[in-house]
Amino acid sequence: MSRSAFATIHLDALRHNLGRIRALAPRSRVMAVVKADGYGHGLERVARTLSGADAYGVAAIADGQRLRAAGIGHRIVVLSGIDEAGDLLEVRRLDLDIVVHHDHQLDLIAADRNPRPLRVWLKLDTGMHRLGFDPARTDALLARLRALPNVHPDIVLMSHFARSDEPLEAATPQQLARFASATAAPLAHSIANSAAIVHFPDARQDWVRAGGALYGLSVEQDRCGADDGFRPAMSLSSKLVAINRVAKGERVGYGGLYECPEDMAIGIVAIGYGDGYPRSAVTGTPVLLNGREAPIVGRVSMDLMMIDLRQHADATINDRVLLWGPELPVERIATSAGTISYELTCGITRRVLFLEDEG
Ligand SMILES: *Cc1c(COP(=O)(O)O)cnc(C)c1O
Repeated sequence: MSRSAFATIHLDALRHNLGRIRALAPRSRVMAVVKADGYGHGLERVARTLSGADAYGVAAIADGQRLRAAGIGHRIVVLSGIDEAGDLLEVRRLDLDIVVHHDHQLDLIAADRNPRPLRVWLKLDTGMHRLGFDPARTDALLARLRALPNVHPDIVLMSHFARSDEPLEAATPQQLARFASATAAPLAHSIANSAAIVHFPDARQDWVRAGGALYGLSVEQDRCGADDGFRPAMSLSSKLVAINRVAKGERVGYGGLYECPEDMAIGIVAIGYGDGYPRSAVTGTPVLLNGREAPIVGRVSMDLMMIDLRQHADATINDRVLLWGPELPVERIATSAGTISYELTCGITRRVLFLEDEG
């Protein structure tokens, strides 16, 4: 069996989605968040396609190395910043911006004897309680940073939302208020991620930081990216490699989870959790076969999964099967698997062949 599972990346959808972000936040600069290999779409591919972004956001310095090696000259912001003194050498060599969220990082910068200014994004914790300083310390932190000769004076103040995908939730306006009152200093501000860009106009500040929406993804309950005008940037597909008749009362797959209610045709699709399709997807999760849905039956295995072909008498071996894409939102699969779309696109494994198309 040759390779059957393909992830096709729709480059024009990526560009469309950046345009949609710009339309929603016309006065903001846009950081394209490309961490986790561009949410699984391919770091260099995404960055090259989204050259219209004002900066890229990455999780780690190693991603900055990859982007510079690919010839990317944009601003690149390391969202978790530095961990040890040696990181500053790399940050300077690669000309990366760093997020500073902890006293430990401030101490490393203060101990650094290289006078070349570092570009710093000062991160406040306005309520998520993951990374960031207490906003009550903002003015003191700014004074300390400003006194350091190796820190660029154009500091960006940033924070991150915990619940911006819940438009009616009070937590987001509360975080916005804490962010607004942190300091009177005239600094560039950045707080909005994708869901906040869509739902909270007040969050569209000097910089917005778009991740999921660029890939056409939503994490909001019962919604998909397309509902907000974004286009899915990934299609995951494979093919039918066997069609079998299975008798009424027989059980299908590991654990015998599915019992055939009648004599029926079962199709075998060449994709499984070894490719990144979630093993937790339950019986009934749809795939698309010849333009129509067919439900998964039984447990997804490493290389293969089974589908119910009772409504697909015309199916033949080698038919293409779409697991998710513009015609079958990944958000539906994520819901069936008890997770979110981001985890699914991030989880595509190396044995899947990546293709690109302009559509
Ligand atoms: C991942 C991340 C983003 C992007 O979040 P989305 O919900 O994917 O838009 C923005 N800011 C920070 C700090 C992040 O870690």
